[in-house]
Parts: sequence; structure tokens; C-alpha cells
Amino acid sequence: MTPNRQCIFCQILAGKMPARVVYEDDAVLAFEDIRPQAPVHILIIPRHHLASLSEASKKDEAVLGRMLLVASEVARDRNIEAQGYRVVANNGSLAGQSVDHFHLHVLGGRLFHWPPG
Ligand code: AMP
Repeated sequence: MTPNRQCIFCQILAGKMPARVVYEDDAVLAFEDIRPQAPVHILIIPRHHLASLSEASKKDEAVLGRMLLVASEVARDRNIEAQGYRVVANNGSLAGQSVDHFHLHVLGGRLFHWPPG
């Protein structure tokens, strides 16, 4: 899928907006959230523009799996694996999705409650 010029995460992927990248490969990019909600807060995005999980289809199966594995690797690298961490994907307006480029949040380093607010 072609990059979306209005999408800030596509701009980060294109190198037109700065980001503190912590991991990248041919399919995904991981970087620090600009407004961290926990001591560790990393976002993982697909390299192609996928607006939300609702837009995903069979062709996205491999990248969706890669994103989860990268979440696990990032958690290990940041030493939050042993204590536990949270992986979140907000999908759509009621869930609070504010950037329409699908992403996983990896959050750790503090206590999280359930259900989330
Ligand atoms: P969501 O509300 O689930 O769509 O999450 C979007 C996340 O993107 C929020 O946690 C924002 O703080 C984060 N964010 C927005 N702009 C940037 C940016 N330029 N660099 C890094 N993180 C960003």
C-alpha cells in the first residue's frame, strides 16, 4: 500500500519526521512514544500504511505476526519481560485510536490495572 501523506507514522517511516527508533526491519519499525504513558512505551508499526486492525486482511498476516514477535523482543531488550508488560492496540474512535496507522503499544515498568480506563 502506498504511503499516506497525511499520516504522521508514514512521515516517520519516510524519514521526514524524527523518531527515536529502537528496532527496524524490512516489515516493521519500532520507536519511542512521544508522550510515554509508562517508563517504557514503544510503538510498533507496519512499514506499509494500514489504517487500523479493521483494515487488515490475509495479506497482512505475516506482518501482524512479526509485530507481536517484535513486541516480545523489545520487552526483552528493555528488561520489562520478567516483571510483565502490556501490549495494546487501540482500534477506532471509541477505543481511543488517535493515529490512523495501525500500531502496537508496548508498555512496561509500572503496575497496570484491569479493566483499562
Ligand atoms: P493511539 O491513541 O492508540 O492511536 O496511539 C497513538 C500514539 O502515538 C500516542 O501514544 C501518541 O503519544 C503517539 N505519537 C503521536 N505522534 C507521535 C510521534 N510523532 N512520535 C512518536 N509517537 C507519537
